[in-house]
Amino acid sequence: MAKATTTIRQVLNYQPHRAAWFAANQTLFNQIAAFYFEVIQAHEKVLDLSNKDALTALEMLTHATKKNPIPVMPLAALGAAIPAMFRRAAINAALGSARSFSSHLQKWRKRKEKAMAKGKTFTERPPVPPRTWNKSVPFYAGQWKERSASSIVLKVWTGSCWSWIKVRITGRELPPDAEIGSPSLIGRGKEWWLHTPIEKHFSSPAPIEKQVTTNAHTTICAVDLNLNEQTAVCTIQTVEGTILATRFIGGGREISGFRKKQLGRIARNRRKTGIIAEGEQDNAALWRKLGHRDEDLAHRVSARIVQFAKAHGATVLVFEHLGHLKPEKGKYSRRGNSKRAFWMKGRILRYAKYKAYHEGILTSRVNPRNTSRECARCYGVVVRYQQGQPAQGYTPGVPLVLCPQCAMKGNADRNASLVIGQRLIARYGQASQEKPPTPLLRQERGEKSPGVAVCQDAKGQEEPSLLQAGHADSNEHGTAQDVSLRMDEHSSDILRQLRFPCE
Ligand SMILES: [Zn+2]
Repeated sequence: MAKATTTIRQVLNYQPHRAAWFAANQTLFNQIAAFYFEVIQAHEKVLDLSNKDALTALEMLTHATKKNPIPVMPLAALGAAIPAMFRRAAINAALGSARSFSSHLQKWRKRKEKAMAKGKTFTERPPVPPRTWNKSVPFYAGQWKERSASSIVLKVWTGSCWSWIKVRITGRELPPDAEIGSPSLIGRGKEWWLHTPIEKHFSSPAPIEKQVTTNAHTTICAVDLNLNEQTAVCTIQTVEGTILATRFIGGGREISGFRKKQLGRIARNRRKTGIIAEGEQDNAALWRKLGHRDEDLAHRVSARIVQFAKAHGATVLVFEHLGHLKPEKGKYSRRGNSKRAFWMKGRILRYAKYKAYHEGILTSRVNPRNTSRECARCYGVVVRYQQGQPAQGYTPGVPLVLCPQCAMKGNADRNASLVIGQRLIARYGQASQEKPPTPLLRQERGEKSPGVAVCQDAKGQEEPSLLQAGHADSNEHGTAQDVSLRMDEHSSDILRQLRFPCE
């Protein structure tokens, strides 16, 4: 089974004075989290434990019980009696921060060591522990009750006592079939919201390779993302090569015009003031407007891609790798515009992947090299031209395409989208044809693994299953050369696993 998590956001309605209670509740939560962060810093070994064991250890250190009357660093020193579930939520928040801080610190130490070893001066500052704490409060089971579609009862610290209060909820309802996680109380501006994570379980889709190689009717949706008007061009095709549908998702020109206008305004404002304050965002409102509009479009385009794929029964979504941003010359607004359009492609891809997964659709990416220059029908080199101009040469970005070899004619982005889909199919097609027989693999591994000789027994027992596992994996990627590369990787994996019991 696979699972997908989403958050349902609902706004709360309450009497105005309760906002102060929610704030007091959050302040207390953060005091406790900060306290536990200190405890962890004083007992760093705690971080080597699993979250569950760390929680027990931290409670032993801080919480007085009959068996443990005098803890080392008592939490009771903070004042109020804390409900166990409130305390545990705070401990988990502190553990999360401490783990993150510790891993940043370790990475910094490694970079420092590396620089010192090379005799370079190392000026990067070490990461610092959080100075302020502003985490939202999750309500574990026992801290909330009587949840209905329109209300919930929460246990909060009002600043002077613990109190159960009923608040009304508005907004999207919880879906009936989902598993509900602990809701959190989130302060946003003057409003308080309830965020509830929900988990949806569904039978996990088969790996893409299996879908493509074992079922000729597997339908894939290929997407070409563009910087021009057609933000995304999607095509549906089966593994056999039947093309079923095409969808153009526009909006590129509009967003580009909008960005140009806003960036131009920013540039003019900057010219007027002449200086930009350091460490402070200039033209904050304009930037925010730009950001929201980009975000909004990325969500809408990705949603439409996934809707289209779902409507045609596609089970695989494929994009090309995005490559690097090619900086453009020209005015500030032009450079900024192309940069944002590039970021937009990344966002659409990310959101589409996530939204597709919720529908049981897997996402893959293929090599972007010359996807626009190849003919989807005969793999020849195409001509790209503008309407009303002679069909010759290759003008990037213009809409029409013609294949001189097979006379295929049509929209250039649609052709690119088809090529992207075919690359995915070709990847697995080749791998299964050129699959090296097992004996070869065995031979190769034998040559490159002198270490195995030491542990003959382990090798004899483990070999077949491990080899098969490695072999199956190695089919995933393209060419024969790829396969042999991967085998080397796998043989070293096998070595590691084999050597382990002997050492
Ligand atoms: Zn052709």
